Amino acid sequence: MAEVVLKKISKQYENGVYAVKDVNIEVANKEFMVLVGPSGCGKSTTLRMIAGLETITSGELYIDGALMNDVSPKDRDIAMVFQNYALYPHMSVFENMAFGLTLRSFSKDEIKKRVHDAAEILGLTDYLDRKPKALSGGQRQRVAVGRAIVRKPKVFLFDEPLSNLDAKMRVQMRTEISKLHKRLEATMIYVTHDQVEAMTMGDRITVMKDGFVQQIDTPLHLYTKPVNRFVAGFIGSPAMNFITGKLAVVDNEIRFKEESGDLDLHLPDSLPAIFKSKIGSKVVLGIRPEDIHVSFQESESMVKGQALVEVVEPMGNEVFIYLNSALTGTAGTAMVSRSAIRTIPTPGMVLPIGFDTGKLHFFDAESGLVIQE
Ligand code: ADP
Repeated sequence: MAEVVLKKISKQYENGVYAVKDVNIEVANKEFMVLVGPSGCGKSTTLRMIAGLETITSGELYIDGALMNDVSPKDRDIAMVFQNYALYPHMSVFENMAFGLTLRSFSKDEIKKRVHDAAEILGLTDYLDRKPKALSGGQRQRVAVGRAIVRKPKVFLFDEPLSNLDAKMRVQMRTEISKLHKRLEATMIYVTHDQVEAMTMGDRITVMKDGFVQQIDTPLHLYTKPVNRFVAGFIGSPAMNFITGKLAVVDNEIRFKEESGDLDLHLPDSLPAIFKSKIGSKVVLGIRPEDIHVSFQESESMVKGQALVEVVEPMGNEVFIYLNSALTGTAGTAMVSRSAIRTIPTPGMVLPIGFDTGKLHFFDAESGLVIQE
């Protein structure tokens, strides 16, 4: 069992900056929890407070039900993997992996067994005598992970462990860490600024911004049910399209009239009643690129409009079409549609577009909160 609970945790640095404010997170036993958000949102500070590398200004941290606020890092039964690997250059791979166990006075036989077991899992058996400088970036990262594994900690903490690797190696290490998580059945908390890493690795994801938690949810829920505009825009690539406008009633129809471009959309009658209270207010319509269709049957359940094609990017299996909601191309909203259509449109064309009715998101223009019942 290794459950990690953060209760109203805040961190104020000496310079007065609040890096983290009232953070509540419950990481379940054996869960892979990702902390994600843009640079400076407080994710590393949160992880370092769990590790005991930063003091907690207020709030409580529990590991397995025990209060950890004043427990020293070495007594928390956690292991941390850093972005820069933090390997000792003068030591061999074996010695680097064994170092923490030697410090803790494990027997020579036990150290040998644990290092060899970890090396086997990570494919490092043939490299145990090498020094770090004779390894590739990916291998060094594996040694750093190995050093954590040999400790058999209750909780693994990862601080942007893949950001120094090239794109291909990052993808490979991503799946390796996911496999490792399944194999070790350990609780893992993983910090990254990369939403793709978060989406592909996390059982659940905590999205942070400006020191505050925005949403804690499964990857699928974050994608389909973002609670605010920030989460909606941060998760997903290309990002969700946002169109600012006003809700109005015309001839008994609820319409969305765009502020700057030419979109004037008849919204579905199935819209929840809460929208009635927003008539006349400024709202932001959110629609993901794959939910904007440029090719559809008239009978399909779509909110229909028109847009100007500005740029087309055929990717082979799909095409990205960059659209503008102003049919003259000036001052409208830039949007991107992503689909598998075969007939590629030409820039300059005005096309009928359809927004998938079930995939519309609406946000309050002031607060950014999702409008839903
Ligand atoms: P992230 O990991 O999400 O990039 P951090 O947790 O590193 O964010 O930082 C959160 C905020 O706290 C930032 O505004 C950063 O400038 C500030 N900060 C981080 N470390 C310190 C420090 N040692 N002293 C003062 N402010 C800090």
